[in-house]
Amino acid sequence: MNTKMAPPIQKNEYIDVVFEDLTHDGAGVAKVNGYPIFVPHGLPEEHAKVKVIKVKKNFAFGRLVELYKESPYRQEAPCPVYKQCGGCQLQHLSYEGQQKAKEKQVRDVMQRIGGLKDVPIHPVLGMEKPWEYRNKAQVPIGDREGGLIAGFYRQGTHDIIDMKKCLIQVEENDKLIQEVKDICAKHGVQAYNEERHKGTLRHVMARYGQVTGEIMLVFITRTEDLPHKSTIMEEIIAKFPNVKSIVQNVNDKRTNVIFGEKTKVLYGSEYIYDYIGNIKFAISARSFYQVNPTQTKVLYDKALEYAELTGNEEVIDAYCGIGTISLFLAQKAKKVYGVEIVPEAIEDAHRNAELNGIANAEFEVGEAEKVIPNWYKQGIKADVIVVDPPRKGCDDALLETIIAMKPERVVYVSCNPATLARDLRVLEDGGFKTREIQPVDMFPQTMHCEAVAVLERK
Ligand code: SAH
Repeated sequence: MNTKMAPPIQKNEYIDVVFEDLTHDGAGVAKVNGYPIFVPHGLPEEHAKVKVIKVKKNFAFGRLVELYKESPYRQEAPCPVYKQCGGCQLQHLSYEGQQKAKEKQVRDVMQRIGGLKDVPIHPVLGMEKPWEYRNKAQVPIGDREGGLIAGFYRQGTHDIIDMKKCLIQVEENDKLIQEVKDICAKHGVQAYNEERHKGTLRHVMARYGQVTGEIMLVFITRTEDLPHKSTIMEEIIAKFPNVKSIVQNVNDKRTNVIFGEKTKVLYGSEYIYDYIGNIKFAISARSFYQVNPTQTKVLYDKALEYAELTGNEEVIDAYCGIGTISLFLAQKAKKVYGVEIVPEAIEDAHRNAELNGIANAEFEVGEAEKVIPNWYKQGIKADVIVVDPPRKGCDDALLETIIAMKPERVVYVSCNPATLARDLRVLEDGGFKTREIQPVDMFPQTMHCEAVAVLERK
């Protein structure tokens, strides 16, 4: 497209388009003489009438007015609050269509950003039942005459919409939150009011151990005081014997950040436990823990398969979090070194290693791009390096060190195909060859796309 030209469409104009693609937030993309227009709820291959809502220099936004030709994968979104919530972006696309779209997304960025044309990309590994998979619910609490509401913020606002059931959430969490809301309301607990910075209960969080069935409940309050605390606890435990931990976190700040500094146990243990495969994890209120344990197992099994460990290898796990992948790897390797920037996560990693009797994993707090070059200087050699960075991908300094360290294999676990493609290009130029890529659907009904790639030294 010639960017010097004026946009070919105008605000409030009605145009006919054919959608070619989806954006990373699930909107349909159509082009008018090469100029892109983004339209929520449009699906690839659909023909539609669209009203132009906003025109910018290099792109526009539109609203779907009429569908002339529907995608064979279009479906009625099952959730009644789908459009208001925004937590899911793809419920109007069948699960088969979602998996195809995610595979295409990976394929496109590998070519466009990575310049990788011949890398085998496997079909997405999806879920048999792509609903009720999330093990963690975190809901804002609001006031309503004669009670409390709990649900989600209406897209783009801070208005709380009451919701009884979230279709991607495990049922146990939804049921517990419904009950907690009623019990708290009955005892006169007031919801936090954001504008006036008054009231008590800000958020409620529930976490469910898929294998153990244990539940943790967290009250996030503005005040230290939670009225009728002990009666409320008793009533909850009587109804939900699986609740093994109730925790209060105090956040007295005017902020969008959910958690405050102070956390105290009100009932039971500081932790609940869960398993991924045969590894047991202790999960506290503030621990990072994967939200879809079923697919986490699928992803880690793939990473482990790609690592091809025989028991003699030294392995580095960069961006190790609470040591989830490290502990998986440690069962098959001689030694695993994990590095992670959040000190509490490393504390969890040590605890989890001990809990599983794993003695050949070491963890260090710090930035992967600083710690790993240090290890290299100290003479630590890695046969396999695993990375699982946040969305922005790996730091250049880390990629350079990986290239210098010359491991046999690199296993790259990614939650963002675009940065994966960018980083694979750097590693390819540094002497590695990408052997294959396996996308795994960790977040059905949403646009999020996870993938694991394996590279070998050329
Ligand atoms: N591998 C873990 C966590 C992956 S999420 C798991 O599967 O559970 C990415 C992790 O990278 C987060 O825990 C985040 O805290 C950490 N992180 C972010 N930037 C980092 C950096 N520069 N160096 C090391 N760790 C970092």
